[in-house]
Amino acid sequence: MRQLTCAGPGVVEWWEVEAPTLEGPGEALVRPVAVARCELDPLLVLSGPLAGSEGFALGHEAVVEVVAVADDVRGVEAGDLALCSFQVSCGVCGRCRAGASAVCERVPVLADFGMQPLSGDERGGMLSDLVRVPFAEAMLVKVPAGVDPVGLASVPDNVVDGYRSVAGSLADRPGADVLVVVHGNRSIGLYAAQSALALGASSVTVTSDDPVVLEMAEQLGATARTTGFGRRSGRWPVVVDCGTRPAGLLHAVDSTESAGILHSVSYYLEDVVLPLGKMYTRGITFEIGRAHSAALLPEVVALVADGRLDPSMVTTQIVSWDEAAEHYLDDTVKLVVGR
Ligand SMILES: [Zn+2]
Ligand SMILES: [Zn+2]
Repeated sequence: MRQLTCAGPGVVEWWEVEAPTLEGPGEALVRPVAVARCELDPLLVLSGPLAGSEGFALGHEAVVEVVAVADDVRGVEAGDLALCSFQVSCGVCGRCRAGASAVCERVPVLADFGMQPLSGDERGGMLSDLVRVPFAEAMLVKVPAGVDPVGLASVPDNVVDGYRSVAGSLADRPGADVLVVVHGNRSIGLYAAQSALALGASSVTVTSDDPVVLEMAEQLGATARTTGFGRRSGRWPVVVDCGTRPAGLLHAVDSTESAGILHSVSYYLEDVVLPLGKMYTRGITFEIGRAHSAALLPEVVALVADGRLDPSMVTTQIVSWDEAAEHYLDDTVKLVVGR
């Protein structure tokens, strides 16, 4: 079968590899039909040390068609369209049942599709003709009737990530004004703004130094505000930190009001010094960690099915399966590969 492969730093190509098969109970075999490029993917592909030399399968945000399931799998069957959690999780261990599916007790940390350089564990990528999905009942969520798979492709990771960055904060502080600080990982910041509007924030402001992000934020119904991340952007009860630059995080900390919540969806490659004394004195709650894909998928899919959240508004480029290798590193906010 064909597999989109990172063959070395900056090199994306189709490889012919052996197709997976069902190997045991609980599994499904799926054929990805729409796959979104995660914000992490260009970093993995372009980074020399991560890209390595052996090649690894790409793609982990996908809508899939179920091709076959093991005899004991209930709830999904061949022919169903489904979203697939990008993280592998069992759905029944203590952490999964507590909603912490990103750190399932039954698989190694970072057991994901399409991220072999991070986990050391090659489970195949969604830009392949077939993928073996363990724990299918927990990992697959059926696509609601009438919802376009291409619009949903990013939901299992970047949309869920944006959603959870505000969902808990707005549950604690219903109707709060929300500030989203975007200094990288553009689509996640935009999904956060969209989710905050869908979840009833009184206002959503996106602040960034990226004109593309600011323009898209306005199209989504948020207020756009340019910043160079120096002076703070006022004080807000609910703040999201989204990006890659420590200056952006410090700006977000400074823009959080006393007793406010700051949620970071950023992964920092370097250690960052935080003003913990100031945060302590002002009683700022700081949350950080990976999104729990399988646990959050049902509620995010329901929001999309209700028409309250439309991730396709953040999609900026759609290419065909055959064009994926050529376009995988294009400079665009959200690339989706469709069959
Ligand atoms: Zn991702
Ligand atoms: Zn588990």
